[in-house]
Amino acid sequence: MRAENPQCDFCGAEPYYSYPCRDFVVATEPLDDRRTVSHVSTGAWLACAFCSTYIEDDDFDRLYVERAIPALIRRGIPADIVRNTQSEIVSSWSAFASFRIGERVTFG
Ligand SMILES: [Zn+2]
Repeated sequence: MRAENPQCDFCGAEPYYSYPCRDFVVATEPLDDRRTVSHVSTGAWLACAFCSTYIEDDDFDRLYVERAIPALIRRGIPADIVRNTQSEIVSSWSAFASFRIGERVTFG
């Protein structure tokens, strides 16, 4: 489970839904020339009511543009980095969609 301050996994807002999800490897990247590190998603993902509408439509590109970009820029992430990470983030969200277990449930 999560810490005391749960957030939407897509934009950081207050979550309204929980999406049951199997654990999966989000990304693997080199740690040095011989080892890699894997980032693993464990358990359910949380979504606010706004992001949930895009998830239900399976429209992760639009979710990124309309919800994640403004949230990342508010957090001070430079716009070029936000644009450059779009495909990586959207692909991790698509992975989430394929590892979902059933329907969303109201969170909290
Ligand atoms: Zn959200």
